[in-house]
Amino acid sequence: LRKNFYIFATAVFFILKTTTVFAQAPSTDEDAFFIKNIYSYSLTQGNAYTWLRDLCARAPGRVSGSAEAAAAVEFTRQIMDTLGLDTVYLQPCMVPHWVRGAKEQCKVVGSPTQGDMPLNVLALGNSVATPEGGLTAPIIMVMSLEEVEKLGEKVRGKIVFFNRPMDGTQVSTFSAYGGAVDQRVKGPAVAAKYGAIAVIVRSVSSTKDDFPHTGVTVYDDKTPKIPAVAVSTNDADKLTLLLKAEKEVRLFIKTNCKTLAPVQSYNVIGEIRGKKQPQEIILVGGHLDAWDVGKGAHDDGAGCVHSMQVLHTLHNLGYKPNRTLRCVLFMNEENGLAGGTEYARLSNLRNEYHLAAIESDAGGFTPRGFQTEAESSVFIDKMKKITRWSPLLEAYDLTISKGGSGADISPLKSQLGLLIGFRPDSQRYFDIHHTAEDTIDKVNPRELHLGAAAITSLLFLIDKYGL
Ligand SMILES: [Zn+2]
Repeated sequence: LRKNFYIFATAVFFILKTTTVFAQAPSTDEDAFFIKNIYSYSLTQGNAYTWLRDLCARAPGRVSGSAEAAAAVEFTRQIMDTLGLDTVYLQPCMVPHWVRGAKEQCKVVGSPTQGDMPLNVLALGNSVATPEGGLTAPIIMVMSLEEVEKLGEKVRGKIVFFNRPMDGTQVSTFSAYGGAVDQRVKGPAVAAKYGAIAVIVRSVSSTKDDFPHTGVTVYDDKTPKIPAVAVSTNDADKLTLLLKAEKEVRLFIKTNCKTLAPVQSYNVIGEIRGKKQPQEIILVGGHLDAWDVGKGAHDDGAGCVHSMQVLHTLHNLGYKPNRTLRCVLFMNEENGLAGGTEYARLSNLRNEYHLAAIESDAGGFTPRGFQTEAESSVFIDKMKKITRWSPLLEAYDLTISKGGSGADISPLKSQLGLLIGFRPDSQRYFDIHHTAEDTIDKVNPRELHLGAAAITSLLFLIDKYGL
């Protein structure tokens, strides 16, 4: 009788286990075991670093519309074709085609103490060029957009020097970046409103060195487009000292950038179709384009290879997803967001539902966790659900908190799923972000593969239990 009871109890257990009662209960030993397998696979057999090394070598400086960007599309499509996915395809999108042209020149001219003093600068992305012979004018230093508004007409005919540094006291470098980047994005438009003829902006950088950091600037349709460059933090400090010592500091700037006709480019997409709820999509992605001066290793080659590794790991571990898992390598995050916008537009047209979208666009450093956001009507419920898995993730030093997700996936918010940003350690990211220093030697293979494992683990839990 006793033996029969055990058989009966075991049978009941297995029946319950397959029903929602148990299936909803996360944090099982089985899940912990599978996550351990994900980490073991990623760390010992992952291809992410090799792919990233090859991407940086074959398609460096893959700014939208460039031959390098086209090479990146083709190379990553070829990789995806080898991953055993159900479908791999290119999704067309029209992208802007901005080119830097010949190297910029910038120097202080006619300083009584320094004579001519060259400065390390880079034209800002999407900016217009100076006149062919360059331009020369006195500079006026400001620490904020508001200061320009207050100065008003006093900036007319001058070069406005935005010089507010990233706040070094903030532990989150992303917050510090967010607190300084308005000068680069909006500074030229605001300065132009009052007749400034050019802008030089202190690089949005967390370190002191000679490398200028480029990045997009956004003009205002109502004001003239004026040339804009970023100057290295060391040179910004030199300018600051000179402005204290001398009554007038004059700068010469010559840039050669231009915007050509838009080009057809692509998002690169691969997916594994869900077995039970294929209509529910879980996206993992990064952006394929990168600024022309670097190799796009951390920003955002890392995010692209993370995303491909996620699907590859699950496939090779024999995991059969309930939902559709889709890897999307977006084009044109840096200077237009054409890929992310077009992806969301087509997704909405097809009435798709993204249960969750995870973007990796913060580098390939040691994982720290995830930030989540959603429409306010669904956020609390989804947050409650995702934090059920905190104990499983904390074992790998991963935390889940509220915060920004990613630019490319942000247009998907209206589908009422959860948007998730992968968050690696950020202390070195803004040393190299948007510079010639964003190269493969700055990426540690083990850290990169830990990132892929972290994202794979969360995606697995979302797929298994829903949100
Ligand atoms: Zn990026």
